[in-house]
Order: sequence, then C-alpha cells, then structure tokens
Amino acid sequence: MDLVFRQLEMKLRAISNGMNHLMLEPKDPVLQAAIERALVCESADSDVLPLSAVPYAHGRTPRSTALASINSQPHTPSVPEGDEKVDSDPSSATNLDSLKLRLLNCTRCPLWETRRTIVFGQGNQRADLVFIGEGPGADEDKSGLAFVGRAGKLLTQIIQSIGISRESVYIANIVKCRPPGNRPPSDDEISACVPFLCKQLELIEPKLIVTLGNVATKTLVPNAEGIMRMRGKLASWNGIPLIPTFHPSHLLRHTWALKPVWNDMRLIRQQLFRS
Ligand code: SF4
Repeated sequence: MDLVFRQLEMKLRAISNGMNHLMLEPKDPVLQAAIERALVCESADSDVLPLSAVPYAHGRTPRSTALASINSQPHTPSVPEGDEKVDSDPSSATNLDSLKLRLLNCTRCPLWETRRTIVFGQGNQRADLVFIGEGPGADEDKSGLAFVGRAGKLLTQIIQSIGISRESVYIANIVKCRPPGNRPPSDDEISACVPFLCKQLELIEPKLIVTLGNVATKTLVPNAEGIMRMRGKLASWNGIPLIPTFHPSHLLRHTWALKPVWNDMRLIRQQLFRS
C-alpha cells in the first residue's frame, strides 16, 4: 500500500469517525451506530458488519440477510461435456453461471485481443446493492476479479464506512475485458459488452445500483450529464433506483472528492434502507 493510499485511508477513517463534522452529522444515530460497530469489528481484525448486522432505520429485514450467497472468488462455471454448444445469447441465461458461460472465449469486441482474463464481476448474487465500474484494470485483468487494485481497496473502505460489508454487495463493470492502458472503452466496445451487464442486473434484481464514474453512468442512464452534475442524484435503470458517484480511482487522484462521495454514500444508505 503506497503512501498516497495510506493517507487517503486515514482520511476516510477520520471522516467515518465523525472527526469531519462537515461530512458526518453526529445527529444521525443509525448511521453513527453502524459506523462505530463497523470500526469496532475492523479494529478487532475481523471483517466489517455483514449487511444483516446493520441497524435499519425502519426495522426492515433485507433480502441479503437470508440470501448470503457470497461469491468473492472468480468462479468458473462448468463447461458442458461433449459436443454440446454453449448458447452465446445473454438474454437466454437463467442464472449468473449460465450467463458467464456465454462469455467464455468472447471475441465480440477487440478487447479480447489484449486481455488476460474476462472479469465477469463478483459478490452476493442476490445483493440489494450493486456497484458498476467502467472496466478492469491491470490487477483485475491478472486476477479475474473486479476492483481488487488500489481503487478496489478504497471502494471497500467506502462501502464499509456506511456499515456494509463488501461481501454483501455485487461489483461488476461495463466492459468485462481490460481496455489497453486503462483507456475508457469505446462506444462499440460498450455496445458489444453491455447486454451481459444488463442481464446480470436483471438476474440479481438489486434494490439500488451505484454507478462509479462517467462511463458507467452515461451507459446506464440515457441522456445523463457528466458525473459532476449527476453524482448524488437519484436516477434509475429499468425502474431500479440508481445513484451515480465518483469512481474510486478519481478519489485516488483528487482528495477533494472524498467529501461528495461521503455524502453520496449517506444518500445510498438512506435509499437502501428506507421503508
Ligand atoms: Fe467480449 Fe465484453 Fe470482452 Fe468485448 S469486453 S471481448 S464483448 S467480454
């Protein structure tokens, strides 16, 4: 962990502890309690609260409590034996494994030529909350997992800061293969890949989608303005509430963005746990 990230992590922890009163209103007892419990768990070197352990503003029990189908590994679906051909049409997939099978050896766009691994996405397959990024980076391309590099570690901190464990949510990207040099994916690459993300979202049926950055927001929200104007505002995708915020890699470069992201996370928590 380099110095910049360590400083950001310390800042985020300070914010979560309520030391920055501009960002955290101590009057929000539910949020405060969740953060304190998360920090206690974290300092005990255990994972933070699972979603089921977070106090809920209206006593609602989330679906994730009963359905803790946690998948933090780059699961490999089994390939049918014999000469049976795999259907490549995402719309006919009935679960995430069958959808992932349809991407095996995908060459629908030029990104296949430079990728090491297809990064399908991972997490709770019945998550209430789904985060959508832009595309895999170098660490993700190596590991096959979404958001595992520095930006991924920061995203984990941000999720945990509102008392939610990373394992409770689902995380995926707009495109499943790394664009060379981490450039933004082209419109054609997005068009080729996004039907898989749309099907992923249909199968997960989250209660809230959070888009991270411009590319994810503009892909899922028709006529979206830039992330500066869109962040922190409630939008929707196919009837599912959606809140855009900055991409964690933006935070690594611009510490001023921590404050708006923290405010967005509070809105996300309110939206997720409202009755
Ligand atoms: Fe296929 Fe998507 Fe990779 Fe393009 S980015 S090759 S559409 S999996």
